[in-house]
Amino acid sequence: MVEKVIEKNLRDTLSYCMERSPFYRSHFGGMDISEIKTVQDIAKLPFTTKDHIAEQSEMFLCVDDKAVIEIATTSGSTGNPVMLKYTAKDLERLALNERLAFHHAGITKEDTVLIAVTIDKCFIAGLAYYVGLNSIGAASVRVGPRSPELLLKMAEVTKPTAIVGVPTYLDKVYEIAGEEGFRKSLSTVKKLICIGEPVKERDLSLNAIGQRLKEKYNSEIISTYGITELATSFCECSLSKGGHIHPELIHIEIVDDDGNPVPDGVEGEVVATTFNVEGMPLIRFKTGDISFIIDDGICGCGLRSKRLGPVTGRKKQKLKIKGTSVYPQAIVNVIDQLEYVDNYVLIATSDTTLSDHLEVRCSLKKGVPDKSDEIKAKLKGSLKVTPVVIIDSFENIDLIQSSVTKRKKTKFVDRRK
Ligand SMILES: [Zn+2]
Repeated sequence: MVEKVIEKNLRDTLSYCMERSPFYRSHFGGMDISEIKTVQDIAKLPFTTKDHIAEQSEMFLCVDDKAVIEIATTSGSTGNPVMLKYTAKDLERLALNERLAFHHAGITKEDTVLIAVTIDKCFIAGLAYYVGLNSIGAASVRVGPRSPELLLKMAEVTKPTAIVGVPTYLDKVYEIAGEEGFRKSLSTVKKLICIGEPVKERDLSLNAIGQRLKEKYNSEIISTYGITELATSFCECSLSKGGHIHPELIHIEIVDDDGNPVPDGVEGEVVATTFNVEGMPLIRFKTGDISFIIDDGICGCGLRSKRLGPVTGRKKQKLKIKGTSVYPQAIVNVIDQLEYVDNYVLIATSDTTLSDHLEVRCSLKKGVPDKSDEIKAKLKGSLKVTPVVIIDSFENIDLIQSSVTKRKKTKFVDRRK
């Protein structure tokens, strides 16, 4: 049943793109797209990459410019931002996507939700949450991600039942609330919808920051993952078993390093085909994110579609240390559990031996003695890698974190050639 929905949407999308998209007409060359009939047939089509969109974004547009009502950009931390254009129907699709997501997360029109993510600066995510909450009839409070004080003041007067935000920011807000006597104003919050950073381990249990937020806020932690180019997000239902993939909006494949499909449950790169997009539909778009598909039949919430596991890494960040492959996110998950570490950064370099070199630079909380051997042992025990561990000052690490881009501090600095 789900497969039939996917196949129909796939055929509709292909013929729409062949008719309207200058990029896909040329990308598919002399292919006979009528041969693409089943879900498996999709593997015969070439991939679409981020470089294709960066270099030829205008060629992806399937409508007249007059039909465009919203222009956003990808957050792209490197290079120039890429323009993405949406029609009125695309914004309705975006609202539907978030309505489904919030609905399955248990949000209703009775809820008041603080949106603690960016809604301007040409980002699409904040806008998507806003239109989604509108369509459910819940009350939105657009406090944004820059002023914990505003969030806490608005929490005090609006008594929110949920917050949408980035995990490390929500953690910081809770600490500031404690310092300024505002914790009580967060006590009405029952759900945290976490975006932008993983809150789950591969086995779907909460990772260190997810667990910390759950305990601090005494709230349900709901993980959601979205990709700007796809104008689609994958949100968990309240059973917390992976992000639901809605077959009316998108199709997901997982592929290995050579681009071949891998079985459900096996990690690989997330490749997506959008359905029912009018402005800039994408076919077999390589996201660069690593995850896996979960298919164990009907979810307890009643949805039959497959689900997407937590993102366990970024393809281009994959490290090979003396023959062992590891993603920085796995190292982050281990270090986040160490209560005595108060700041850290991972620095990757490469030399001529074909092996990457990883340095983990940590600062420790006041009065804690040198723990470099213990940190090294923890990483070896859980990930079988032994990076160099250096204890440094909070300020030095802070400087390194801000050295890559002024816009955002990073925990992973990639200096490989
Ligand atoms: Zn479910």
